[in-house]
Amino acid sequence: MSHEKKWVVEHPIVGKMVKEEEVLWINPHLKSAEIGLAESSLTAECVKDASDRLIRFAPFFEVVFPETKASKGLIESPLTEISRMQQELVNRTGIEFPGKLLLKQDNALPVSGSIKARGGFHEVLKHAETLAQKNQLIDDKRDYRQFTETPFKSLFAVHKIAVGSTGNLGLSIGILSAALGFAVTVHMSADAKVWKKDLLRSKGVTVIEYEDDYSKAVEEGRREADQDPSCHFVDDENSKDLFLGYAVAGERIAAQFIEQDILINEEHPLFVYLPCGVGGGPGGVAYGLKLQFGDAVHCYFAEPVSAPCMMLGLITDLHDKISVREIGLDNKTAADGLAVGRPSGFVGKVMKPMLEGCYTVKDRTLFGLLKLLADTESIYAEPSALAGMMGPIHTISSHVHNAKSPNARHLVWSTGGGMVPDYVMNAYIKEAENVELFPGKSTGNE
Ligand SMILES: *Cc1c(COP(=O)(O)O)cnc(C)c1O
Repeated sequence: MSHEKKWVVEHPIVGKMVKEEEVLWINPHLKSAEIGLAESSLTAECVKDASDRLIRFAPFFEVVFPETKASKGLIESPLTEISRMQQELVNRTGIEFPGKLLLKQDNALPVSGSIKARGGFHEVLKHAETLAQKNQLIDDKRDYRQFTETPFKSLFAVHKIAVGSTGNLGLSIGILSAALGFAVTVHMSADAKVWKKDLLRSKGVTVIEYEDDYSKAVEEGRREADQDPSCHFVDDENSKDLFLGYAVAGERIAAQFIEQDILINEEHPLFVYLPCGVGGGPGGVAYGLKLQFGDAVHCYFAEPVSAPCMMLGLITDLHDKISVREIGLDNKTAADGLAVGRPSGFVGKVMKPMLEGCYTVKDRTLFGLLKLLADTESIYAEPSALAGMMGPIHTISSHVHNAKSPNARHLVWSTGGGMVPDYVMNAYIKEAENVELFPGKSTGNE
C-alpha cells in the first residue's frame, strides 16, 4: 500500500486533502489552555522577556523608522471591525453570523508590512543586543538610540545574518538587519516574488535565488551559515526567538480589546483564524493569545489546499517528519507566504494540545476574498493574508460550539500586504475578477 493510501485509510480527511478540497479539521488532541501551556517548553516569562526587549528598542525605531513615531516606536497594527465585509460574506454564503467580524491588520504593520515584523524583528534585535552586550557596548544610563551610533554599526558590520525565505521573512530580516548595519543574505525560493527580491537588493541585501522550493532555500542558507561562525542563521523552522516575538501580539491585542471596550471571556469567546506557513507566526500568536485569554480563545490555522503542512503534521502526528509531497500535493500556490511543504516540528508539538483546528483554502478563494475585502473595506492585503477570512464560514457552518453566539468575536489575522507594489495588487484584483468566490454557495466542509 502506498504511503498516501495508508494515510487515507487511517485518516479519511486526508483523502479530501489529496483531492485539494477545502476541508476543516477539528483537533482531537485539544486540552485546556492551562494544560496546553504547561506542556510547552516555553513560559509567560519568555514572552515577557521578548516584550521588554521590543520596548527597549522602541526609541531606536522612532529614530530609524519615523513611521513608528505615532506608536512611540512599537511595531503594532490596527484592530478593525469589518462589518461591511461581514455583511457581504453573509449575503453570499447565507450563513447566520450574529457575532462580530474583526480584522487584525498586520498587513499595515510599519516597516515591513507583514506579520514577520513581529517575529523577524525580535530575533534580529535579540541577536544585536546580545552581541552588543558581549562587547560591552551598551551604556545602561542611555536608551537604545545608542544602537544607531558608530561603535554599534562597526560591530555589526563584521557580523552576518542569513535567512531562508519565501519572501516576507526575508523582507523583515533584511530591512532591519541592514538598518542596524549587519551584512545580510536572504536565500530565496523560486516562488518568491520578483518585486521582493528587487526591494531587498535596493536596501543593500544580498539575495541568493534557488530553483527549488522554500525548504531547499532554508537548507542552503543554514549550510552556508554553519560554515561561518560570524554568521547568525535565522531558523524559521526551529527558532524560539521568532516564536516569542510573534507571541507578544497576545498582550498587544489584549490592550486593544480593552481600549475598544471589547470583552473577551468564556461567555464572550474569541475565535481567531491565522494563515499558516511553517507555523512560527500563527503558532507564536496563538500561544500569546492563550496566555492572555486561556480557554476563551479558540485558534484555527488556515493553509492552502496544495500546502496543508501543519494540518498533515498534526493529523499524522509526524510533524516535520512528513511533507505534503508524500500525499501527492505539489506545494504550488499564489499564497507565497504559505507555500511550505513541511511544518516546523517545534511549533507543531507546542500547538498539538492548544489548537482548535485547521482548514484549507483554494487559491481562487483567496483571490475572491482579497477583492471582496478591497471592495467593501478598502483594505488591501496579499493573497496569503486572506486565508483567515474563510474561518468564520467554516466554524459557523460546521456548528462549532459558540461560533454562532451573538457574543462571539471572530478575528481574522490579516498577515501581510503592506509592501505589495500597486501594480502587483492591481494584478491580484484583476485575477479575482475571473473568480467565482462561493460556487453554488457551498463551503465544502461537510
Ligand atoms: C509568513 C507568513 C505567514 C505564515 O507564517 P509562518 O510562520 O510561516 O507560519 C502568513 N502570512 C503571511 C503573509 C506570511 O508572510
